[in-house]
Amino acid sequence: MQKNIIQATCPICGKKESILLSEDELKNAREQHSLITKAVSHSKEGHVLTLYIDGQGIVRRKYCFEMAENQIKALENKNPGDLDTIFEQMLQNSKKSTK
Ligand SMILES: [Zn+2]
Repeated sequence: MQKNIIQATCPICGKKESILLSEDELKNAREQHSLITKAVSHSKEGHVLTLYIDGQGIVRRKYCFEMAENQIKALENKNPGDLDTIFEQMLQNSKKSTK
């Protein structure tokens, strides 16, 4: 299977990340014209990096969440797929609260 690895640099701490995307994720994003959400915990730095990647494997948007240490610890017990969902929800909630 072909591997799709996306390189991204965190805008807060400058850490370089390699994100692995499956062909299915990319295919779904292309067919649905949607963005893939990937969250990377930078718990030592006190924030989480969230990437939005399109079906071509291009990073379209980056968000960073500043978080309290205990919040990040709680998230680390979850598997990476759950993290993506949690941050998607957090983003939706933050959009709502700014209206
Ligand atoms: Zn970072």
